[in-house]
Amino acid sequence: MRPIPVHAFNPGPMTGDGNTTWLIPGHVPTLIDAGTGERQHLDALEHALSGARLAQVLVTHSHVDHASGAVAIAERMPHVQFLKMPWPEHDAAWRVPWHPITDGETVAVGDSVLAAVHTPGHSPDHLCFWHHDSGQLFCGDLAWKGSTVVIPPSHGGDVAAYVASLERIVHLQPRIMLPAHGPVIDRPLDLLQEYIEHRKWREQQVLAALRTGLTSPDEMVPRIYPTLATALVSMARESVLAHLLKLEREGRAARDGERWRLRD
Ligand SMILES: [Zn+2]
Repeated sequence: MRPIPVHAFNPGPMTGDGNTTWLIPGHVPTLIDAGTGERQHLDALEHALSGARLAQVLVTHSHVDHASGAVAIAERMPHVQFLKMPWPEHDAAWRVPWHPITDGETVAVGDSVLAAVHTPGHSPDHLCFWHHDSGQLFCGDLAWKGSTVVIPPSHGGDVAAYVASLERIVHLQPRIMLPAHGPVIDRPLDLLQEYIEHRKWREQQVLAALRTGLTSPDEMVPRIYPTLATALVSMARESVLAHLLKLEREGRAARDGERWRLRD
C-alpha cells in the first residue's frame, strides 16, 4: 500500500500548514479524510488520481477540517461514497449520505483492506485506519508530531478515552503513522509513549493545583501554563477541565457548583 499525500490547502490556527489527506490508489481508489473543499485540494486530488475514478472517502472524524470537504467532493465526483463512524448531530452539518462504519470493520481500499479502529478522546467518533500487512496506521487527529492534540470536553473530548486510545494503538505496534496534520510519524511508539507521559504529567499538575487550593480551570491555567499566549487560553482551560472531569469520574476530585476540590 503506497498512500499519496494530497494537501488540503486549508492553513490556519487550528490546522497548522493545513490538513493532509491520503489517496490510496489501486482497485478501489480511496481518500482518507475530505479536507474542507478548497478548489486547489480537489484539483490536486484529480491530478493524483491521474485519470482513475475515486471510489470512496473514509473520514476519521466529523471535525470541519476532516469532513466538510465531502460536500465539494460529492459535487465534483457524484459517484463517490462517504464512510465514517456516526456522530449524527455533527455529521448532519455536512450534507452527503454517510455510510456508517464501526470499530473492527474492514473496508476494501486500494488493492488491500483497512480495518477501522475506534479511537475516541479527541472526538467521540474518531477512527484510525489500520493496514496490518504494512504496519501503516492512518491516525487522523490521534497524534500530531511536534504538537499535542486538543481534547475539548465541551465538544465530546474525553482525556481518559484518549489515553486508552493511545494505549490501544501501542498494542497494534504500528511501524509508521500517517497523520492529518504535521509530518509523517516514523517512530510512532516513541511518540505515543510521550503523549501518554504528557497526560500523566498534566494530571499531576492539576492534582497539585487542587492541593494548593485552586478551585477552577480559570485559576489553574496561569499556574499550569505560565507563558501561554492569550489566544490559547480557552484551549488550555478546556484541557484542564478535561483532566478535572477524568479525576471526578475516578472519584479523586469533586465539584461544589463551580468550585473544584480534591476528594478526601
Ligand atoms: Zn479534529
